[in-house]
Parts: sequence; structure tokens; C-alpha cells
Amino acid sequence: MKEQEDCIFCKIAGKKMPADIIKETDNFIAIEDLNPVAPVHLLIISKKHYDSLLDVGGKDDNIGGNEIFALIGELAREFNAWERGFRTVINTKNDGGQTVKHLHIHFMAGRRFGWPPG
Ligand code: 5GP
Ligand code: ZN
Repeated sequence: MKEQEDCIFCKIAGKKMPADIIKETDNFIAIEDLNPVAPVHLLIISKKHYDSLLDVGGKDDNIGGNEIFALIGELAREFNAWERGFRTVINTKNDGGQTVKHLHIHFMAGRRFGWPPG
């Protein structure tokens, strides 16, 4: 999907809106969440616009899966979560609690998370 003009994460990933970018790879950026729900709460945002997880992985689409996992590992190391652990979440559509319709992965650390999620 093409970059969308009214999409806040397209603007951030496209550097059309200022944001403190913590990490950048070919296909993703990591930034701090505006309303953190944990001592560490980052968002891994795809540079390419996908409305949700369900739009990823078409025939000619390569999102860079290994890149995501490597990035998560780097964040775990840098944010002191390698030993203690962390939570990654992709909320999808209404029942999943997705509020921003551009693919992103929450990376949360620094406290113990409950299960099942609310
Ligand atoms: P979702 O509910 O879609 O899974 O997550 C969206 C997340 O994006 C929320 O945690 C919200 O706090 C965060 N968010 C919304 N707008 C902005 C923004 O402009 N900048 C940043 N850094 N985070 C945002
Ligand atoms: Zn977008």
C-alpha cells in the first residue's frame, strides 16, 4: 500500500513529522509511544503503509521478517530487557484494540505483564 497522506505513522516514518527515532532499519523505525503503558514502551513502525497485520505478506510483498526479529533483539539488549523479558503486541482491527491503522508492533518492558490481556 502507498503512503497515506492522513496517516500519522506514514508521516513519522517518512520524516515529515518530527519524532525521536530510536532505531531505524531498511523497513522499520522504532520510536517511543506517546502514551506509554510501561516503563519502556516503544513502537516498531513499518515504513510502508499497511492498514493492519492482515495486509502484510501478499505475493509480491516482503516486509523483512528477519529484520523485525533482529530489531526486537537489539531493543531487548539496549533497553535492559534481555534477561527479564518483555512483551510484544500487534493489535489488529477493532476487537484487537487497534487505534492507529498503520502496522506497528508494541515493545513493552520494565514491568511484569499479566496474562490473559484485558
Ligand atoms: P494501537 O492502539 O493502534 O495498537 O496503538 C497505537 C499506539 O500509538 C498507542 O499506544 C498510542 O499511544 C500511540 N500513538 C498514537 N499517536 C501517536 C503519535 O503521534 N506519536 C507516538 N509516538 N505514538 C502515538
Ligand atoms: Zn500509514
